[in-house]
Parts: sequence; C-alpha cells; structure tokens
Amino acid sequence: MNLPLFERAQFVISVNDIAALPPDDAIEVAFVGRSNSGKSSALNTLARRDRLAFVSKTPGRTQLINYFSLGENRFLVDLPGYGFAGVPYAVKAHWEELLSEYVGQRKSLSGLVLIMDARHPLKPLDLQMLEWFAPTGKPVHVLLTKADKLSRSTAVTTLRKVKHELDTLDFNATAQLFSSLNKQGVAEAEERVSALFARQLPQSG
Ligand code: GDP
Repeated sequence: MNLPLFERAQFVISVNDIAALPPDDAIEVAFVGRSNSGKSSALNTLARRDRLAFVSKTPGRTQLINYFSLGENRFLVDLPGYGFAGVPYAVKAHWEELLSEYVGQRKSLSGLVLIMDARHPLKPLDLQMLEWFAPTGKPVHVLLTKADKLSRSTAVTTLRKVKHELDTLDFNATAQLFSSLNKQGVAEAEERVSALFARQLPQSG
C-alpha cells in the first residue's frame, strides 16, 4: 500500500505532560493554533479523514498533545489549542509550559504549522508561539484557514499583510490561504508540510 503521506496518518498516543512524550528521536511536524482556528479541520483535510483529529468547540476536549504516525518514524503532532477565554490560571500555566517546552526544546521537531483564522491573524498568543519557536531557527508554515469566509480580494490582502509582518519580525516563516470547507490551498499545504518533514530525512545515495 502506498498512500500519499498524510493519508497514512494513524493515531498513536495522547499525552498531557512533557515527561510522557515518546522518545525524542523521530521526525515530527507539529500543528499549533488558537482554539477554534480550524486546526483539527485542517489536519482532517490533509489526512482526507472525517475524524482523525477531534473537531470541537468544547474547551477541555482537545488539550492533549496527540501523535499521529505517518510511518518511517515520522509523526504529525497536534498540539493543544490556546486562547480559550475563562480558563483557570493553573490550566493556562500548564499549557504554556507544555507548549513552550515542546516547541523550544524538542529535537525531533522539524517544523511548525501555525493555524490562524484568516479573519483574525497574528493574535498575541500566535506571536508568543512564534517567539518561543524562533530561537530554534526551524521553519514555520502558516495556514490562514477559513479563507472561504473572506472575499477573494480581502483574502489576498490579508495574506500579503501577514507575510509582510512575519518578514518584518524576522520569523523563518512562509504563509498561504487555506480552507477545509472548499479545499482551497490543500495541494500547496501538502507540499509545504511534506517539505518540513523532508528537511531532516537522511540524504539517499
Ligand atoms: P480547532 O479548535 O482549531 O481544532 O478548530 P476546528 O477544526 O474544530 O474548527 C472550529 C470551527 O470552525 C468548526 O465549527 C469548523 O467547522 C469550522 N471550520 C474549520 N475550518 C473551516 C474552514 O476552512 N471554513 C469554514 N467556513 N469553517 C471552518
């Protein structure tokens, strides 16, 4: 069986603690974003699955680090969504520690996919995430999701502004428009995310 990369995704494990992560000797690409940004939908769209990642608006259901194997020691990692209002301080502090440690320290992490609702890009917590990751020098690819909710011209302007902001702040980041609803940008996202995995694959021959 030779399925396209993301269609091979199989759920492996959920963890709630840095100490419980699998051994740090794989190749991982992690998906991050504010809750409700469309992260689970984007993962499901790439995997061409209805329910790989759990689509939910309910706080508390998706706050674990979920690992999906693609085979050959490669993993898609679904990080907990951030930015829920009204979350108790202790819970928020735990997420912050989990996310900052994972993106800042994880050797297996090859690149980050940052999901932002195209109508609300680059919120403070998105910038915080980019700042935690920036010292690693590893690449970020931004999916501006729900692009179907914007007019074509607003979408194009938004993309241009976000790219400009990322460049100005000196992040090693690329960006694109994406929609899980009408599948805009799926081929581009597949190419970019595959490239994040390929970055650390040993040279053949
Ligand atoms: P998550 O919390 O970031 O994982 O976000 P979800 O994937 O659960 O999506 C949150 C809400 O946005 C759900 O109601 C989805 O149906 C909706 N949604 C996600 N992606 C899109 C998209 O590309 N277009 C539109 N119109 N809605 C979307």
